[in-house]
Amino acid sequence: MPMRAVETGLPQVSQNELQAMAYTDPLTGLGNRYRMRDKVRLLAAERAEDPAPFAIGIVNLDGFKPINDLFGADAGDEILCQVAHRLKACVPEGAYVTRHDGDEFAFVLPLVFERSGAERLGQTIRDVLSAPYDLGDRNVRLSASFGFAIYPFAGDRFEDLVKSAETALYRSKRRGRGQITVYSREIAEEMKRATQLEQALRNAIINDQVEVYFQPIVNLQNDTVLGFEALARWNDPDLGFVSPAVFVPLAEERGFIDALSEALLRKAAEAALSWPRDLFLSFNLSSAQLMDPATANNVLSIVNLVGLDPKRLELEITETAVMGCADTAQRIIAELRQAGVHIALDDFGTGQSSLGRLRDFTFDKVKVDRAFVSRIATDRTSEEIVKAIISMCDGLGLEVVAEGIETMREATKLKQLGCGMGQGYFYGKPADAAATVVCARRFYQDTGADLAMRAAL
Ligand code: C2E
Ligand code: MG
Ligand code: MG
Repeated sequence: MPMRAVETGLPQVSQNELQAMAYTDPLTGLGNRYRMRDKVRLLAAERAEDPAPFAIGIVNLDGFKPINDLFGADAGDEILCQVAHRLKACVPEGAYVTRHDGDEFAFVLPLVFERSGAERLGQTIRDVLSAPYDLGDRNVRLSASFGFAIYPFAGDRFEDLVKSAETALYRSKRRGRGQITVYSREIAEEMKRATQLEQALRNAIINDQVEVYFQPIVNLQNDTVLGFEALARWNDPDLGFVSPAVFVPLAEERGFIDALSEALLRKAAEAALSWPRDLFLSFNLSSAQLMDPATANNVLSIVNLVGLDPKRLELEITETAVMGCADTAQRIIAELRQAGVHIALDDFGTGQSSLGRLRDFTFDKVKVDRAFVSRIATDRTSEEIVKAIISMCDGLGLEVVAEGIETMREATKLKQLGCGMGQGYFYGKPADAAATVVCARRFYQDTGADLAMRAAL
């Protein structure tokens, strides 16, 4: 039937066209969320008699927003169109691609029945999306994170299935860039536990229930205490003791590491005020903090407020942290050192490109990881590695601390190798502020050997 002009003079749009518009993403021409919903419902209805599984997947581009902000919305749109094009070209026969939301796309996969199939497909798509995007005058690279959900295990209604895929995607995002997760009950449980832990930790911070313990660091050559490392301790009434190796990364992932770290540094600095003045306080900075340009200022204002001389403060950072955002980390370190704060490289020897880091960054101290120290008395290779680290640090003018010394044999060996400082259960386990002040005053005059003797009691 020929179309009649309406009275407004605009061409009339047919019912079909209207419907197509409502189901299409105008930027990429892909179907939208409603189209996906219909596809899933249709597929579920087809499989109602014989509930053969099928999968849906959601892919989210990592770090798309900063690129959009940096290069402008047109460049962002261009990337999204190129992503849509690549996705259509690489999904298997019978699969359907839609634009889910912003930088998120989705697939309906009638022939993917189980986890390994979804993971394989995720890997293929991840490779396809990782190739550079041509923006005319420049190329841009992006990674992508994936969440898959399999019908009917992860939900038999569209909304539930999407929610499961989103949970899986959220887990992928939490684990870093370019991850692939297929929803399962265990993953849902893991996410639930993490959320419970997060809530409890947020409350513990507000109610001032996260404590700081202190572990002595001794001079191995003359056996005196030089300072203490602050270690966070959290004992939740319901969850029991939770290790900082669990809750520190959680606070980083969920974006409240600043609040946690500030509370801990304040407490640690206040405690250090009651120690003899030449003992230092060593405090762990988390990797997320080294990506935040405000960190140096935050740290310095806390120590200034408390009244601790910044020269008595040492900050422990890890290689992974300095690798994350090298320029920012370098600036933070420079700013802190300028104020007199010392910087120690923690867990040395376990990360990547250790030697390169020593050249690129300015540190004062290196802490040799317990992994080497605990085998030093029994394993030649570990001994040689520690020897090499000590000699290298000597040449570079860096101090060395051996972490995790547990036995007299280890301590003796380290002394023989000329290691300057040590720390570990042999010299003292982490203790609360009250016990530490007693220890600091008493053992300040006493020696590390006395400490070791008392630690053994
Ligand atoms: P780290 O900074 O390398 O701290 C040393 C860890 O080794 C501590 O574990 C300490 O209790 C343990 N340790 C010390 N001596 C010995 C020993 O002789 N034998 C054994 N087996 N272990 C020993 P902890 O307190 O569980 O802390 C684990 C990690 O959590 C720390 O590793 C640090 O990376 C992080 N962490 C702890 N407190 C904080 C904090 O306040 N802020 C941040 N950002 N991270 C923290
Ligand atoms: Mg440390
Ligand atoms: Mg360490």
